[in-house]
Amino acid sequence: MEVNDVVLAVRDITRVYKGDGHEVYALKNVSFDLYKGELIAIMGTSGSGKSTLLNVLAALDEPDKGKIQLYGQNKMEIFKEPNATFYRRENIGFIFQSFNLLKDLTVEENIALPLILKGEEKLQIDEKVDSMLKLIGLTGWRKHRPVQLSGGQQQRVAIGRALITSPPIVLADELTGNLDYNTTNEILHELVEMKRNLNQSMLVVTHDPNVATFADRVLFFHDGQIVDEYKCIGTKDIDNILSKFRLIMEKRI
Ligand code: ADP
Ligand code: MG
Repeated sequence: MEVNDVVLAVRDITRVYKGDGHEVYALKNVSFDLYKGELIAIMGTSGSGKSTLLNVLAALDEPDKGKIQLYGQNKMEIFKEPNATFYRRENIGFIFQSFNLLKDLTVEENIALPLILKGEEKLQIDEKVDSMLKLIGLTGWRKHRPVQLSGGQQQRVAIGRALITSPPIVLADELTGNLDYNTTNEILHELVEMKRNLNQSMLVVTHDPNVATFADRVLFFHDGQIVDEYKCIGTKDIDNILSKFRLIMEKRI
């Protein structure tokens, strides 16, 4: 893997939810770097701030403090509309647990959508969609609709849609949460292969240590903070990730 430069610098992000008389610190001074071509897994207990982090990184939520800086990005205020929408469209690919495909569109139309929104030329779109269909192994399914596909195939379409614009970052929230063990491993092997070939930077939220072993690095969240970190080395990763995660779970009790 080439790790030359920082694609995303997250600095001192704090997000406080204010309720009647009480405050919840969903994120407390969170800082980390995501490198070009790197896959980071975010693991953490429920309520530790994982979804809040993804929302902030996607400019769907504005932090109370701190900043995120994207490689090659000018100094625009990304958290305010209409900048936030533009920022997302240009820079972020999403993969959701529930696939979130548009059911009335075909496989190829779903994949083409981000390019259409960006206003790319039809010829260029067709070319990119063709090669993406090959990458995800669904060329024969291009005219099908999501409902005609298996869960694994649907998630492949969602991955194709997220990667089609070669966005600086791809964000995934429990992307294999609706898939069985074998399909999960198949999808993750393919995703890591694509990530390597495209040198794609990704951030994946997961509660599954098996999923985290596919990452280059695991950040452990607890109470809105990064409390531990693990660099995957290829052997014993699952044991090391599990024992770190168990420690965090125990601290919680
Ligand atoms: P995770 O995704 O790790 O389970 P979240 O980011 O969803 O955690 O939540 C972090 C904390 O912020 C939790 O204590 C949660 O209850 C709180 N929280 C999340 N969203 C809101 C909201 N819209 N209003 C108030 N509190 C929230
Ligand atoms: Mg969540």
